[in-house]
Amino acid sequence: MASIGRIIAGAALAALIWIAPAHAQQPPFATTKVEGTDNVYVFRYGNAQAMFVVTKEGVIATDPIGYGRPQAVATYIEEIKKVTNQPVRYVIYSHHHFDHIAGGKPFKDAGATFIAHKKAKERLERLKDPHTVIPDETVDNNRTITLGGTTLELTYLGLNHSDSTLVMRLTAEKIIFTVDWLPVGSLPGRGMIDSYPLEWEDSIKKILQMDWERLIPGHPGVGGRLGTKEDVQNVLTFLQHASAEVKKEAQEGKCWDRVEKELKLPKYAGTPGYEQALPFVLRRYCGLWGRGF
Ligand SMILES: [Zn+2]
Repeated sequence: MASIGRIIAGAALAALIWIAPAHAQQPPFATTKVEGTDNVYVFRYGNAQAMFVVTKEGVIATDPIGYGRPQAVATYIEEIKKVTNQPVRYVIYSHHHFDHIAGGKPFKDAGATFIAHKKAKERLERLKDPHTVIPDETVDNNRTITLGGTTLELTYLGLNHSDSTLVMRLTAEKIIFTVDWLPVGSLPGRGMIDSYPLEWEDSIKKILQMDWERLIPGHPGVGGRLGTKEDVQNVLTFLQHASAEVKKEAQEGKCWDRVEKELKLPKYAGTPGYEQALPFVLRRYCGLWGRGF
């Protein structure tokens, strides 16, 4: 029997090994020019991505995405050099979370100016993460960067996934880049942890009023696609639904344990990421409606 057990275990292991290359088929990084533009790029490394814009007077880059992997930043810089000889003039942080902004030192050493929301700078100055460059300049509610004929508008819409999230909008191209609060084709999951769920809904209503057509998310959308206003509306609908469902239970005193163990959101069971997202969503809304924060 023991040997049969070993055979079964061996077969299971073989199956795992067999499956592994299928998951590894996606190349470790990719640089993609956004369709219909001649200068807007998405740089993806692993499961994170950033936008960069090439102009005749220099490059505007965003999040270094180098948390725990300095090679991602080296690759990012090499990929930019493949499309232009222009220097990187700016690095703009989407928000203050290290998984998106750590690792920027090579950009800094090459002379880039770092920009972030003012609350991102305040937070980073307290945290003193050795791998994260402190912003040189900050944005309060609005700032417009013009470089080599490109206009990039930076807007703070208030609290959502973080308290320091910027929306970066290319005004002529009608493209936005904003991170961790508007998943494209999937559900918000781990990004719920430190979010402000009520204000998040307000931010979504505001971004739906802005003039844009395509959204570059900070994690690739389902199938690698960019987002639309419909995707953003879907996030709002999901948050409202989840919030209402947990609220009923929470007000009957069922947070944390009973909600976290028993509540499901079957309407969304078929949406990519549902299983992973559910515990984070329930915990965050239990925090809101069961505790008040
Ligand atoms: Zn984040």
